[in-house]
Amino acid sequence: MPGLSEGGFLTNETVFDLTEQPRRLAVIGAGPIGCELAQAFRRLGSEVTLFHRGGHILNREDADAAGIVQRAFVDEGIRLVLDAKLTRVERAADGKVLHCETPRGAMRVAVDEILVGAGRVPNVDGLGLETVGVAYDHRDGVTVNDRLQTTNSRIYAAGDICMSEKFTHAADFAARVVIQNALFMGRKKLSALTIPWCTYTDPEIAHVGFYERDADKRGIAIDTYLRPFSEVDRAVADAEEDGFVKVHVRKGGDKIVGATIVARHAGEMLNELTLAMTSGVGLGRLASVIHPYPTQAEAIRQVGDMFNRTRLTPRVKKIFAAWLRWTG
Ligand SMILES: Cc1cc2nc3c(=O)[nH]c(=O)nc-3n(C[C@H](O)[C@H](O)[C@H](O)COP(=O)(O)OP(=O)(O)OC[C@H]3O[C@@H](n4cnc5c(N)ncnc54)[C@H](O)[C@@H]3O)c2cc1C
Repeated sequence: MPGLSEGGFLTNETVFDLTEQPRRLAVIGAGPIGCELAQAFRRLGSEVTLFHRGGHILNREDADAAGIVQRAFVDEGIRLVLDAKLTRVERAADGKVLHCETPRGAMRVAVDEILVGAGRVPNVDGLGLETVGVAYDHRDGVTVNDRLQTTNSRIYAAGDICMSEKFTHAADFAARVVIQNALFMGRKKLSALTIPWCTYTDPEIAHVGFYERDADKRGIAIDTYLRPFSEVDRAVADAEEDGFVKVHVRKGGDKIVGATIVARHAGEMLNELTLAMTSGVGLGRLASVIHPYPTQAEAIRQVGDMFNRTRLTPRVKKIFAAWLRWTG
């Protein structure tokens, strides 16, 4: 962007070297890093303007989930500039000025610091990869097969340099695949890993497996069950009703293929669903797992109950409804 280098900017690395709080901070990019840092700085008292070229923040996440975090951001006073096309940066008397075009017109925003959170690229330069026959490109990184072998079969890769899931735990488990395949004649596959993730905004968004759009793309029919936290006693008591547990199962069965949780500690709660997915426990069986009352994780059992209710025959449903009315 013209003027950005001259104006000076922070990255996801240099931002942690700040020794003074910027009174006004612009964050470019509303992906996980941009959102986490925007909210952190807002809570430290900075005036934060978050620029994003998409129509809503965290646009890779489940749209309902991202919508809840977006509302929280607006309530906390983060200024969102969506569908933003930043055109240039200049230094002026009132600070670093970002010029931006939006469908609502042109904007000029003056700040003290600019944080760029518009994505990271693999660091493939200077490793001499060409000389050892390891293919790569600058956007996707080192080319690997499902066993994490590079195009030089005696060289393996793991982590951000070769994977689309750029997470610490993903790099860790990919490294285990490499060790088994390279040293112990293993036949482990990256695609066999179930990798969950979490965005540490407040509330958090945690996800594992398919989103609805993934299932659509692969032509897999799914049923979706959703339990809002406004109906979960512990979340009501905690005043943390903005959130939900959403579980996708294969149509006609209870095999869990994906789940999203929005909650203050969604990353902690998700593990139960990841365990169910990796060990082949269906959503119906989760209904019989006793959860202490009142806990927010009860929402997961309740989603199991929702699934089981769909299995009832019309006659049993009628009796059940009458019983529910009778017991109040
Ligand atoms: C701000 C931020 C927040 C994040 N938060 C989370 C989070 O909450 N949870 C999560 O799971 N993930 C998070 N991530 C992503 C996570 O940090 C990465 O996915 C993870 O570190 C990848 O591990 P890695 O070993 O592949 O790469 P890295 O951790 O980047 O390690 C690569 C190492 O190689 C070294 N290196 C590079 N070039 C050379 C060279 N030529 N010679 C020798 N050494 C070299 C680097 O110095 C570095 O130490 C975050 C990332 C950022 C930037």
